[in-house]
Amino acid sequence: MKEYSLRKRVLVTGGAGFLGSHLCERLLRDGCEVLCVDNFFTGTRQNIEYLLTNPSFELLRHDITFPLYVEVDEIYNLACPASPVHYQFDSVQTVKTSVVGAINVLGLAKRTKARVLQASTSEIYGDPRVHPQSETYWGHVNPIGPRSCYDEGKRCAETLFFDYHRQHGTDIRVVRIFNTYGPRMHPRDGRVVSNFVVQALLGEDITVYGDGLQTRSFCYVDDLVDGMVRMMSNDSGFSGPVNIGNPQEFTVLDLAKLVVKLTNSSSKVVFRSLPGDDPKQRKPDISLAIRELDWRPHVRLEEGLLATIEYFRGFPSKSSTPVPMERTRNR
Ligand code: NAD
Ligand code: UDP
Ligand code: UDP
Repeated sequence: MKEYSLRKRVLVTGGAGFLGSHLCERLLRDGCEVLCVDNFFTGTRQNIEYLLTNPSFELLRHDITFPLYVEVDEIYNLACPASPVHYQFDSVQTVKTSVVGAINVLGLAKRTKARVLQASTSEIYGDPRVHPQSETYWGHVNPIGPRSCYDEGKRCAETLFFDYHRQHGTDIRVVRIFNTYGPRMHPRDGRVVSNFVVQALLGEDITVYGDGLQTRSFCYVDDLVDGMVRMMSNDSGFSGPVNIGNPQEFTVLDLAKLVVKLTNSSSKVVFRSLPGDDPKQRKPDISLAIRELDWRPHVRLEEGLLATIEYFRGFPSKSSTPVPMERTRNR
């Protein structure tokens, strides 16, 4: 008689990216079978290379703007470029990935009756007028600016998740992720932590945009992944949206100084112009995550930065770092 596996089959879209690769690793550790789907727009094979020999891990190159027919029990939908440089590179594709991609994973979840989690973002709050941001705040988003392809795409994806839930009874979970950092961030994706660490290690100028007094709250990747897994496995009927992030708030200038100190670098801080629609402040109110999921972050910024610096020391030089998105420009 054929033996059927009783292990959970979990699909991770965007599984070869920064957060996705850590999530795949965690799910395998928890005993799941993991199907990683990625089109390698910003993710890389190297991010998941060490998982390829694991018999419970499967990799499929696929673009989620096209339908996907597989049999799974749970879906984490992470596919979407996340850094401003990457999501503005092909902004139309970013909207398609968020919106058409959401329709496809929701159609898949509807057919298979899988529980589906959306990796949403603090960007849905835009340049917020309420501080800190709680889930009840509807946001302040420019619908036609340079960040809109991402912000509005993610907002529409949330709408679709809640409409599939109301209309079809789809079992959804929505997490709003605040700035997260750690090993396997792309060294040249333009995000502030990776930029500052790489610049400091290479002895280049540290590029602070604007006056550096804008704030962000940085969550270490392990804490974030734990929050996502808790949200997926809660059986209380709580669908979210729920903020997952570290409420410790820093100015960008504070971050620059801390990175210089921790790398013992001779780099100087220089000021550059602020990109359009750059949010002035951001900090999650995480009381809902504490109450519903008993989740809170544990890794302090200094500790997480040291682990990230250690990872980036492995990259030889700026000129040899790959920029994978360039290969897919004329899809
Ligand atoms: P990332 O760019 O490293 O990962 C995204 C992954 O999705 C990449 O592997 C990329 O190749 C893949 N992808 C992109 N378009 C795709 C498509 N059409 N089909 C299949 N795969 C596709 O970014 P990340 O930081 O790991 O972010 C993962 C998710 O978390 C994203 O949805 C992002 O919006 C969300 N998020 C991240 C942060 C953060 O600070 N890292 C904050 C808020 C939200
Ligand atoms: N879909 C998919 N995999 C599935 C089921 C559906 O990719 O296993 C896609 C399908 O292509 C469709 C979308 O999900 O376009 C939405 O599916 P749904 O059943 O909600 O809508 P419909 O098929 O009626 O358009
Ligand atoms: N930033 C900066 N220098 C850099 C990269 C980013 O000062 O080299 C700033 C950016 O303008 C923003 C903050 O750091 O105010 C966080 O930028 P990131 O792109 O990491 O994330 P997001 O703006 O999406 O929160």
